[in-house]
Amino acid sequence: MERQAPDKFTVINELARRRGFFWQSYEIYGGVGGFVTYGFLGAKLKQNIENKLREIFVKKLGIMEIEAPIIAPGKVFEASGHVDHFKEPMVECLNCKRRFRADHLLEETAKLSASDVEKLNLEELKEAIKEHNVRCPECGGTFGEPKHFLTMFKTTIGPYSEAVGYGRPEAAQGIFVEFRRLYEMAREKLPFGVMQMGHALRNEISPRQGLIRLREFTIVDIEFFFDPEDPNCYLLEDVGDETLRLVLAESKLRGSEEIVEITVKEALEKGYIKVAWQAAFMALAKRLLMELGVPAENQRFIEKLPWERAHYSLQSFDQEVYVDRWGWIEVSGHAYRTDYDLKQHMQFSGVDIRVFKEYEKPIVKEKKVIKPLMAKLGPAFKQETQKIAEMLSEVDPEEVEALFKAKGYFMLGKHKISPEHVEITTCKMEERGRRFIPHVVEPSFGSDRLVYVTLEYAYRVKEGRVVLSFPRDIAPIQVGVYPLVSKDGLPEKALQVYKMLIDEGFTAEYDEAGSIGRRYARADEVGIPLGVTIDYDTLKDDTVTIRDRDTWKQVRNSINVLPELLHKYFRKKVEFKDLGTLVKE
Ligand code: AMP
Repeated sequence: MERQAPDKFTVINELARRRGFFWQSYEIYGGVGGFVTYGFLGAKLKQNIENKLREIFVKKLGIMEIEAPIIAPGKVFEASGHVDHFKEPMVECLNCKRRFRADHLLEETAKLSASDVEKLNLEELKEAIKEHNVRCPECGGTFGEPKHFLTMFKTTIGPYSEAVGYGRPEAAQGIFVEFRRLYEMAREKLPFGVMQMGHALRNEISPRQGLIRLREFTIVDIEFFFDPEDPNCYLLEDVGDETLRLVLAESKLRGSEEIVEITVKEALEKGYIKVAWQAAFMALAKRLLMELGVPAENQRFIEKLPWERAHYSLQSFDQEVYVDRWGWIEVSGHAYRTDYDLKQHMQFSGVDIRVFKEYEKPIVKEKKVIKPLMAKLGPAFKQETQKIAEMLSEVDPEEVEALFKAKGYFMLGKHKISPEHVEITTCKMEERGRRFIPHVVEPSFGSDRLVYVTLEYAYRVKEGRVVLSFPRDIAPIQVGVYPLVSKDGLPEKALQVYKMLIDEGFTAEYDEAGSIGRRYARADEVGIPLGVTIDYDTLKDDTVTIRDRDTWKQVRNSINVLPELLHKYFRKKVEFKDLGTLVKE
């Protein structure tokens, strides 16, 4: 029987474990699902990816990066709606007692689509499980009633059991609750953005997808605040002509995943994407993934149907990347959160977080005002008069006037107020500006998924050997330094070169163990773009060979020009062929 080659997910996880990119945490205790530890190579790769994201989204747009706590008091996630909504359907096997996500089971075993499953309520899930005869993947048993499971980690803050706290399932709330201060720091001007990158906790029911579904992962939430009446999307100048591959909700409703390829500008004109800032960020997200090695044709943005969207979103697109084992997986979510979150926090905290925007010229408006006539109110209401006068300042004069017209009086609490008790006049008022809650769009990435797709897209096999062809500015180690043999003064010279490169700010590795071929192979397998080899000629003329990981070509040049040339190379200002004279094809 022909043995099937393992898929890329298996191969990459094996390589990641063996070479120390990442592995399941708590191995000595048998491992715990949904937690990973990154070794040196993985941690560096992840940092480089995160820095690329900072370069594309944060620095150029002047977005402010902040760091807020991971634990929040219960009130925060009650206000945000997560306590009510951040739940997943779960079923328990009646035989082995294992628990599974009901919707995922139906997708995997009954091959139902995610969007069809997502709209089912608990009763409908139960029916579907019965209808498709879905059994426990572990023991073949049948399932009990589906239930909702809150996927936030719950704790207490301090020793008081009533002081409930939650581990944040997203970094966004840490931004919303600090909005007032952040707005001040943005010099009280819209639009502006805030980013937070940090660990998020989601108590996933049965994570079995490595870096794709973790219980603790790194989330990157960018909240970009704007005035819905004047979004001022200056980013369109840069990205307006970028093309996006969209799968629209209307196609999904027809049962199709047809891709519409369209520029950002056209997508806005046609109304496919409601908000300019959201479309612009989607274009940047596409660029980011291209920089990580995922070609445009292996990316798409799929619109979420109303029942698939998070409770706070008016329009959502998931950026998806095609991977070997699962097909399309989400790497970032793009949600138009409107004023939902700020409004909720305003209501729950009682603090006014509206912003004030001055008009260029004040607007003069006619306004009705109501004035209590004390000479008439006093005899009619005696000791209640003062209270009634105060209450009258709260009523809407237009409404009162309408009630007088309709009924001849109006009720202020239990008191009957007639036209003789008040005077309603019209006066001119100058309005200097408007007070409103800004709207927000959110691009939200998961670093760990970016690490996974970067690895999968870097993976190649050349002449039977594994090469991780990371983009050169993402590679965890930039240069390997090797003495050709470990004798005759070559190691000493190689160590000098190694130290010089470290001093110059490169991430370098020194390796003298085994044959040079074995060392090159080891370096290719962890994706080191360049190798610098010190040989006998180096001792004579201070030149070295530089080897390219992807083509295995070699060029030769002097040690003293290396720093400047390599800086240019890693900033993508020159190509490999520009690094010296070709000595090996
Ligand atoms: P969401 O708020 O669910 O749209 O998540 C935002 C991003 O976080 C997603 O696009 C993923 O990249 C990432 N993400 C969400 N859940 C997980 C998880 N359990 N493990 C790893 N990454 C995740």
